[in-house]
Formats: sequence, C-alpha cells, structure tokens
Amino acid sequence: MRREPTEIDLNAEIDPNTEIDPVAGIAESALTPVTDPTGDHRSYFVYYSEVGLKRGNRPYFEQCLIRNIQHALRGLGVFGTHRLFGRIRLDQAATGDGDELLRRLARVHGVAHFEKVERFGWDLEPVEKCLGAWADEGGFKSFAIRCKRLEKTYPMRSSEIMIRLGSLVQSRSGAKVDLGTPEQEFHILVLNKEVILFRDRTAGPGGLPIGTAGRVLLMLSGGIDSPVAAERLFRRGCHLQFVHFHSSPFTDRSSIEKTTDLAQILTRHRVRTKMFLVPLGLLQTRIVSDAPARWRVMLYRRYMLRIAELIARKQRCLAIGSGENLAQVASQTLHHLTLLDHTVELPILRPLLTYDKNEIIAEAQRIGTFDVSIEPHSDCCGYLLPRKPVTDGTLEEILEIESKLDVAEEFAEILTRIESVPIGDEDPKAG
Ligand code: ATP
Ligand code: MG
Repeated sequence: MRREPTEIDLNAEIDPNTEIDPVAGIAESALTPVTDPTGDHRSYFVYYSEVGLKRGNRPYFEQCLIRNIQHALRGLGVFGTHRLFGRIRLDQAATGDGDELLRRLARVHGVAHFEKVERFGWDLEPVEKCLGAWADEGGFKSFAIRCKRLEKTYPMRSSEIMIRLGSLVQSRSGAKVDLGTPEQEFHILVLNKEVILFRDRTAGPGGLPIGTAGRVLLMLSGGIDSPVAAERLFRRGCHLQFVHFHSSPFTDRSSIEKTTDLAQILTRHRVRTKMFLVPLGLLQTRIVSDAPARWRVMLYRRYMLRIAELIARKQRCLAIGSGENLAQVASQTLHHLTLLDHTVELPILRPLLTYDKNEIIAEAQRIGTFDVSIEPHSDCCGYLLPRKPVTDGTLEEILEIESKLDVAEEFAEILTRIESVPIGDEDPKAG
C-alpha cells in the first residue's frame, strides 16, 4: 500500500532520551497473543543458526528473533511462542493459514530451518497411528527414520524406536529403508514428557535477526543492485531505512513509484521503516551548467552522499549502505569509490562490492525484486549524462572543482523538500 509522502524537518532536534527499538516500528498491539479459539491447533519448531552462537548476547538475539517472528506471523492465529532449549515452538490455531505461516517464516532472518510438528505423550501408539497414515499416503520409494532421544530416561533406546517405527512404515508403504539418501525422512524427537514427529523440514534464510546489528541508511535506486544490497544487510541483522534521489520535477516520478514498490517487497512481513525521497534536480541543473561535463556523475554522487549523511545522522543510522560494485561503471572504479568515501565521515557499506553481475541478478530473482527492477524508469544519475565520464579522477581535482561550484542555495533548498514515506506492513491485522 502506498501512502502520500510527508515532508521531514532535518533541522528538528533529536530527543536524546528516545530509545531506539532494534525492531523499530513494530507496534506492541501486533504482538498481543491471540487465544486459541478452537482448542485445536498446530505446532511448529523453529531453529536458529548463528543466534545460538552468541553466548552472552544470546537472550537479546533470541528476543529479537521472537519479536520478528511474531511480527511476520501477524494475522495467522499464532497464540503461543515458546522459547525452548535451542529452538522456538509456535502454536497456531487450526483456523490460521498454515501454508502462509510456512511461507512467511521462510523470510525471517535468523531462522535456520523449521518444521510443522506433531506432538504426543510418551506412549508410542498414537505416534504409530500418525506415522502409519503418512506411510499410507506413499509417494516415496525409500525412507529413513531419524530418532533423537534428548530425554535419557525414556524407556526405549533410539535404535529400538527406529526399528519399531521403521518396520511399521515399511509394511504400510512397501518402500525400502535407505539411511544414506532416502526420498523421505521421518523424524522422532524424544523430549521430556513429549514425543515429537515430523516429516518435512524447510530451510529459512539464515543470517541474524533484523535489528540486532544497528541501523543503516540504504541508498535505493530503481536498479537491480541496491535492493540486493538491502537484502544482504537485512540478512546480517541491520535495520534499514531507505533514501531515494530523483530528478522530479525535471523528470517524471516513475523512479519513486518503483523504489517504493521495491522497498515494500524487501520489508514485507519483516519490519516497518521509512523511505526518504530527495529531489536532486535543482543541484543537478547547477552542476550541468557550472561544472565540467565529465565530472557530472561523480558530483551528483558526492552530493547525494552528503545529503544521505545528514539524513542518516538525524535518523541515528551508523552507516550508509549502497549497491555499488567494483568497476561496474565509471563511478565505481576503485579510484572513484575512494573519492566517494572521502565525501562523508560515516562508513559506506557495499555488500555487493565483489559480486559478478550474474550473481546479483540471480539473487534479485530469488528475493523477488528483479521483475520490478527491470521496469523502465527515469534514473536521476542518467540525467544529462556525459558521453565520456572521468574514470580516474583524483581527490585534488574533485575538491578543486567543488571549490568553484556554488551550490549552497540549491543544497539548502533541497533539504527543505525532502519527503518521507512509511514502508512496511501498515495494517497490524494484514494477512
Ligand atoms: P544497476 O547497476 O542495476 O543499474 P544500481 O542501483 O546499482 O542499479 P548504479 O548506477 O550502479 O545503480 O548505482 C550504484 C549505487 O548508488 C546504487 O546501488 C545505489 O545504492 C546508489 N544509487 C544510485 N542511484 C541512486 C538514486 N537515484 N537514489 C539512491 N541511491 C542511488
Ligand atoms: Mg549498479
């Protein structure tokens, strides 16, 4: 859903007492547990990868992950989230959409894998009933029973359980046992007072929960690269805000619509955030008339960064993120990336620096941004592009050019025209 942009005031004071919520923007109301209306429910186990390794900070990482999971699963009837040893159990009312729950969990960063589980008491008979029904469904020629007995006081050994359940599946399905590469696996987990059975495990995206690695202002263009860079930073736990530069009113607003759509795809069921829209046209017009043509793109980029840094500081972001890629174009030669680094004090994070373009495209397709990225739009850096941009400029040269360029008025004017749009799920009941 798109909202009308509102103007932001870059000069307003930041309240130093405001706590930054790592999972910023998630309304408490969205986390209020719903009660199971039917008494009947499904359960899921969620396992986390690196979160388990963070010793001292583990509770913090786990809490963040749980909040992100709860945010992702809003509206799906999840009424219980339990932190167990090394895993999280989710309980969902039978009326909730189970397939949608699996789809959304697969997008929550920090999740290594997850499965829908059947829970029984220690008596194996109901387990056999369920497993027998699965065996009757067939669809596999070989299978394995995998058993983990985490509760050592259970009266049967793992091998005994596997033999008993294995012969049941064999006789009901006609499939053969293959412990190496079976077509179907059935998992048994013996816990304190419970036996768990499941058959399908789904991989999550891995990485770290969004909100655990600090805030970054991500420069989002309408191209293929920057959405992929955003995904990589989300995956390492950064909370992102977005900034997009456009040349409206000198060009149309197509890039704004496109980047808004891209930001929505990237944040869907993950996080609420903002995108800042900056009209760069006034500055570009001045640069085109007063600076050497070959330096135009470099100058556009340096002013973009200066504005981004102001926004980033105001929003308490610790870095600026970009989809730049070594030697992809003239403004991304090693020379020029260095010139860009010299423009601002905040670090510039470039997660795609060493990727090949085909690797970036494959990832854009996987995360669902590619089809939007290839739609046509008016790119502000393509505005009055010189035929032969400089590729190996030096810091002395660019400083010399900038010292002769008087853009103070345009710069100040642009700062008053920055708009901000909310990004992310807006309706807490959204399905
Ligand atoms: P592609 O290279 O796929 O055409 P791109 O978004 O990477 O798209 P580049 O010209 O390579 O475009 O720009 C390098 C980086 O600079 C982008 O990844 C993005 O982070 C930033 N950038 C470029 N143009 C804009 C813009 N109009 N608004 C915000 N950031 C931008
Ligand atoms: Mg690029």
